[in-house]
Amino acid sequence: MIFCRTKAEASKALEKPRAQARSLGLVPTMGALHEGHMSLVRRSVAENDVTVVSVFVNPAQFDESRDLEKYPQDLRQDLLLCEKAGVDVVFAPTVEEMYPEDFSTWVEETQLSRGLCGAARPGHFRGVTTVVAKLFNIIRPGRAYFGAKDFQQAAVVRRMTRDLDMPVEIVVMPIVREGDGLAMSSRNSRLQGPSREEALVLSRALARAEELYRAGQRDVGVLVREMLDCIRSAQHVQVDYVEIVDAESLEPLEHLNVPALAAAAVYIGDTRLIDNRLLNPTEEGTTP
Ligand code: AMP
Repeated sequence: MIFCRTKAEASKALEKPRAQARSLGLVPTMGALHEGHMSLVRRSVAENDVTVVSVFVNPAQFDESRDLEKYPQDLRQDLLLCEKAGVDVVFAPTVEEMYPEDFSTWVEETQLSRGLCGAARPGHFRGVTTVVAKLFNIIRPGRAYFGAKDFQQAAVVRRMTRDLDMPVEIVVMPIVREGDGLAMSSRNSRLQGPSREEALVLSRALARAEELYRAGQRDVGVLVREMLDCIRSAQHVQVDYVEIVDAESLEPLEHLNVPALAAAAVYIGDTRLIDNRLLNPTEEGTTP
């Protein structure tokens, strides 16, 4: 496995596979890797000749400096996990390498990124699309892997590649959860003691919405109220948003007659967690 800190090193590492026209998969991450990330890595290793994992805590997508400062990092462990999984190249650039002082160009998707996390975190998706576009230019993958846990992010990235004719296929993988239902997240390591137990209201609320939906409930107001009641039953959990939106346009819905996404974000102390579930009448997996 080759470890690269600079764009030049990454280009050099990929020179040969490119010349041999070998297929290349990219898994963009912010590190502190867990099973959610590794499910993407394994898929990429299985279907590409070469897999690159990027590890970069992207300051441009953080709207709160405290969140950025406290973001968990464990590069040594990430490298071990990648090596074991058969990753060929890990690209872990510095902030200066990605954003020189006079950096002044941004990539912005303006429709799918308006609601949900986009409304709650101004500038977040502009940071995401900019860094992902840069990673696509640096690595030039044929496929890139994203998780449905960040459903809106995957939808925004897919739209960006379509709108800007980027020659990369976006593969979206299902949410990987802990045994008790909590969606895996690097931020989960920040949940201490009772917070970890209370965090379960997030996945439970979404599961409850799906259960009611399966039982025939189609009124968004009723489902959202149920989710809010569930989340508010936990003393230390603050709701950021709870919404049900069209799974394709991500626009708010009133009545559920199309595939929909129930999505929620909460704060537990200063740790922000997100989760979602599809409410799909056809039962087929809709991916962003
Ligand atoms: P992050 O390091 O949090 O930016 O995540 C990097 C990639 O891993 C993103 O595409 C995430 O959607 C994906 N990911 C993170 N957590 C999970 C999870 N629990 N299940 C599936 N994919 C995930």
